[in-house]
Amino acid sequence: EAPPKPPPEQVSSERLRDVLRDVWGHAQFREGQEQAVERACAGCDVAVYWPTGSGKSLVYQVPALLHDTGCVLVISPLVSLMMDQCKALNAKKGADVACFLGSAQHDYSVEQKAKAGQYRLVYATPEKALGSDLARALTGLRLIAVDEAHCVSEWGHDFRPEFRRLGDLRGNLQVPLVALTATAPPHVRKDIERSLKLRPGFHLAAKTADRPNLKLSCQPLSSGLGTVLRDVAKSLGKKNGATLVYCSTRNEVEATAATLKQQAPEATIAAYHAGLGDALRKAAHYDFLAGRVECVVATVAFGMGIDKPDVRRVVHVSPPKTLEEYYQQVGRAGRDGLPSSCVLYHSASGFTRYESDFYKKGLEGEGLTRYDDSIKKMRAFAERDSGCRRRHILQHFQEDVDDAWCCGACDLCNKGEERDYTGPCRLVCAAAQSVTCSATDLTQLASGSFKGKRNS
Ligand code: ADP
Ligand code: MG
Ligand code: ZN
Repeated sequence: EAPPKPPPEQVSSERLRDVLRDVWGHAQFREGQEQAVERACAGCDVAVYWPTGSGKSLVYQVPALLHDTGCVLVISPLVSLMMDQCKALNAKKGADVACFLGSAQHDYSVEQKAKAGQYRLVYATPEKALGSDLARALTGLRLIAVDEAHCVSEWGHDFRPEFRRLGDLRGNLQVPLVALTATAPPHVRKDIERSLKLRPGFHLAAKTADRPNLKLSCQPLSSGLGTVLRDVAKSLGKKNGATLVYCSTRNEVEATAATLKQQAPEATIAAYHAGLGDALRKAAHYDFLAGRVECVVATVAFGMGIDKPDVRRVVHVSPPKTLEEYYQQVGRAGRDGLPSSCVLYHSASGFTRYESDFYKKGLEGEGLTRYDDSIKKMRAFAERDSGCRRRHILQHFQEDVDDAWCCGACDLCNKGEERDYTGPCRLVCAAAQSVTCSATDLTQLASGSFKGKRNS
């Protein structure tokens, strides 16, 4: 028997803004946030596809904190992320308004209190939520949020089989479901919406994947890893912002971190991979966020939930498997909107390693075809020698971009003497003509990441 349906709410803009200011101290909502919150409160399902750092969490946190009763269930794959969010919210409210459930929760009274309706936000791993049928067990459930929803999709880069079953979490409960992830191409979106069984007429909140302040470049590792790391080391220890170095394997992380430490003894460098144990990983994570460590050398394990605005450099010592993964990783650079550089070094072996059984295990049929295809696309992106990288990315995410458009900042836009300035010139015209041209475009022009002739 289904529990009673919470009444849909008409929440005024003023009320939403008061909560935003009182709890978070933010003066206003970012584009799309208020509407998404308002739709969710009205009982509508919502799919949120905004780039990392856009402020997706507020879409479920605001509805939770509008009230002194009832709760929002948040599913997330990452225990450390849930712990961080709970800590931050409880500190902001000065009371225990949020808790998390999962195998890392050692205080068993928390689950009882959660079920009794003592928290406004209950974070849980998918295993926990499904295993204990949490949605039905929580008193006063208002909303279910599935964060990092791309984990639902086999086509995404971070598939978690247990996310697949989340479509059954809500069952016949009359509560809205909010799915959130970074920008995803249409087929991944469809997969998410179908798997999570979003109800017809759901509100779609999508933003462009474009990140104008990122200077993308890809270089073959022909000069050898040694040379590359010497260059990376040179940029460290100069107090000019944080650096993230991505590697494919734990061994590569260890070796790279050791080399960098040797070559830049004045820099603070930490290694991060799943084999390191909880304490070391947490230390690397928090020291990086706090600025005590300027460079983290990591596997993909270091990622989701790294909310650091001033990462100036993302270096890939070896290529990721897919463009989605690549774009999520470089997306950790320049969240503050300031120019940041993203360099990917690649070699044939960096790609062929993904053909081994270690990476392909469990995949077959269509899944395997898609996997191979994703790697091919990543490789084609890295190895291409013409066209604009930002355009390539946007077209990959199937955004509407003119074939003549180019960013003027990536390595390919700046290659050779023959340059086509049409794209950048259009940008200048757009900037001059329209207030909708973003401040970042102008920043980019002013900061020199726009490389066209300024007087043209
Ligand atoms: P995402 O989940 O999309 O990666 P988060 O929810 O973690 O993004 O938010 C990223 C950052 O943006 C956080 O530091 C958050 O405080 C900030 N933020 C979100 N919304 C606003 C807002 N309306 N005004 C100012 N800062 C905001
Ligand atoms: Mg998030
Ligand atoms: Zn370009």
